[in-house]
Amino acid sequence: MTEFHYSVDADGVATITWDVPGKSMNVMSFDGLRELDTCIDKLLADPAVKGAIITSAKPDFAGGMDLNVLAELRDTAGDNPAQGIFDGIMETHRLFRKIERAGMDPKTHKGGKPIVAALPGTAMGIGLELPLACHRIIAADNPKARIGLPEIMVGLFPGGGGTIRLAYKLGAMAAAPYLLEGKAQEPKKMKAAGIIDEVVAPDDLLARAKEWVLGAKDSDLVKPWDTKGYKVPGGAPYHPAGYMTFVGASVMVHSKTWGVYPAAKALLSAVYEGLQVPFDTALKIEARYFTNLLMNPSSGAMVRSLFVNKQALEKGANRPDVPDERVSKLGVLGAGMMGAGIAYVSANAGIEVVLIDATQEAADKGKSYSTEILDKGIKRGKVTEDRKADVLGRINATTDYSALEGCDLVIEAVFEDPSVKAEVTAKAEAVIPETAIFASNTSTLPITELAKASDRPEQFIGIHFFSPVDKMMLVEIIKGKETGTRAVAKALDYVRQIRKTPIVVNDERFFYANRCIIPYVNEGMRLAKEGVAPALVDNAARLLGFPVGPLQLVDETSLDLGAKIARATKAAMGDAYPDEAVDEVVFWMVEQGRLGRKSKAGFFDYDDSGKRLGYWPGLTERFGRLDEQPELTEVQHRLMMAQVLEAVRAYESGVLEDIREGDVGAILGWGFAPWSGGPFGWLDIIGAARAVEICDDLEARFGPRFKAPQLLRDMAAKGETFYGSKAKAAA
Ligand code: NAD
Repeated sequence: MTEFHYSVDADGVATITWDVPGKSMNVMSFDGLRELDTCIDKLLADPAVKGAIITSAKPDFAGGMDLNVLAELRDTAGDNPAQGIFDGIMETHRLFRKIERAGMDPKTHKGGKPIVAALPGTAMGIGLELPLACHRIIAADNPKARIGLPEIMVGLFPGGGGTIRLAYKLGAMAAAPYLLEGKAQEPKKMKAAGIIDEVVAPDDLLARAKEWVLGAKDSDLVKPWDTKGYKVPGGAPYHPAGYMTFVGASVMVHSKTWGVYPAAKALLSAVYEGLQVPFDTALKIEARYFTNLLMNPSSGAMVRSLFVNKQALEKGANRPDVPDERVSKLGVLGAGMMGAGIAYVSANAGIEVVLIDATQEAADKGKSYSTEILDKGIKRGKVTEDRKADVLGRINATTDYSALEGCDLVIEAVFEDPSVKAEVTAKAEAVIPETAIFASNTSTLPITELAKASDRPEQFIGIHFFSPVDKMMLVEIIKGKETGTRAVAKALDYVRQIRKTPIVVNDERFFYANRCIIPYVNEGMRLAKEGVAPALVDNAARLLGFPVGPLQLVDETSLDLGAKIARATKAAMGDAYPDEAVDEVVFWMVEQGRLGRKSKAGFFDYDDSGKRLGYWPGLTERFGRLDEQPELTEVQHRLMMAQVLEAVRAYESGVLEDIREGDVGAILGWGFAPWSGGPFGWLDIIGAARAVEICDDLEARFGPRFKAPQLLRDMAAKGETFYGSKAKAAA
């Protein structure tokens, strides 16, 4: 056995120690489950053994199921994948049920062997589902540990019995935040919630677990759901209180998911049905819903993009093979909105930062942004005064460029003006080491052009953050024509240090993310100008799974920014500029002083506190309203294709080199419908042939911006998918 180890001490107490070799955190695999099964059989078969402790040799108990394995499950399940998946899940249920029943007499409930879970630290996913099947859960008092069932975050639900056990244990209402929101908490809070039984000093963990095993009575081993007449707290679905819970939960799930996430609905169904039948039937119901979910292309796409590929990119899947380039001293030029955020996330990750602005006052203001974030953290009990002092101590706010001496990376975030950028590039390069890398955070200016101001263009690169920097997890790294591999490695190592997710793209107008976002919001404004009700436009996007509709998004990012970008783009593109119709709306809105949320007036009206009150009627008064509104699907196709086709074009033209980056970047960068796994994931779900059909229809009615790219036509002709045949061919 390699993942679980079995030993018995002199007092007849077995310890089953989970210790996956070569990993800092245990994750469950199918081999692991088989080994655990063998340990349990040994325990139950040996009359000399009184009971067992299941624990971990690592500082934490477990991170969860190995989702890579889960992702493979469907592909390897043979001709009848649903049956294969269902059988696999039922095997896990049988094992956990065996632990729970622990060899006791089914009628008298006597003669079972006590099994206790002793959790030294974090226990997530199946790392909590397994303890929930044990007779007691004891955790070390470790405030940094997190215990929870986070499956919903990657488009799944706890399918190892955790859904049913938690609902039976706490009742549907109390279990809802843990199941439907993936809420994870430290041990003491999980004890207060009634999910674990005891919290003890870390050094006492195993001794206390053993003491419990030796003292356990037959009745301590019987789960409430295995006793006669057990009533679930809060009532089953047909109890008046239980009924109210499910009405409320259904509304909550729909208002949060807009009906596009299959996991939350499947989970709710499993709990609703599971609470009305005997426990073993409930587990079978959970297994059926879980199978159904794993067979849904959305869950596969979410696991792929939000877990497997995101992690691969964070670990440097596209990093050039050059030595470690981690940053020790960072220069940030420009202490405005972006520079201040970049300084904070870097100092917070332990990097020494020099934050430069044109005046000391501006530099100090930039640093005070970190103070504000840290103070908020202190208020919420997440940050200590010491930590605050440490982080602030790492930021040197100054106007003095000579402080940049010794910086191995500089990121400029000054005004979006090539001459200002050229000036600060030259000033910084006069001071920094010859080996240092210089990066620009520009959103719109070509990196290759900006690199002309540098003496070392192979050491010049784009590191494009999204606003607000401390919240947005994506960083787009842009290679100019002359950018060298060491600069790419430096940027990737830096992004890893600050624990964000990188994508690496080539240098073309608006790079990748903005290139796709702009046509999306523009299509929204075009629809509004044509007389489509603004509520239909935004809700069509919400119903596709976007966190906000395009008009609301424009209000958030501001219309004057849109006008500025439109003017600059027009100047650069001349006659090829495609968005005159949109400009009419944007420029007119700006003329009316309706700049978006920041001016408390945009496509929405706002109250004084900035709360949205409803759509502004002035837009309809100016541009009219169609008597007959278009079908929802037509609006959705337009909004979806506007951005998806741009992603395909970016891939076709080589701006994107890896579809995984296109998908992960879209979800993290602009909230692209996560259920679909990203634009390429979405295209795979509907199929290239269907996509071409939609494009042909849209092109005929709305113009060439919807023309299907040749790549998509070729794929349709050959029956290819991005992640199937195409990805395999590339590999
Ligand atoms: P900002 O106006 O808030 O900040 C720019 C700062 O640069 C100001 O504090 C200014 O005093 C300082 N500055 C100007 N000239 C300088 C000089 N010669 N030396 C030192 N400091 C100087 O702008 P921002 O929104 O932080 O944007 C900065 C950069 O980041 C721009 O290139 C922008 O395109 C890019 N960007 C912005 C966003 C966004 O959402 N705002 C997102 C991604 C990238």
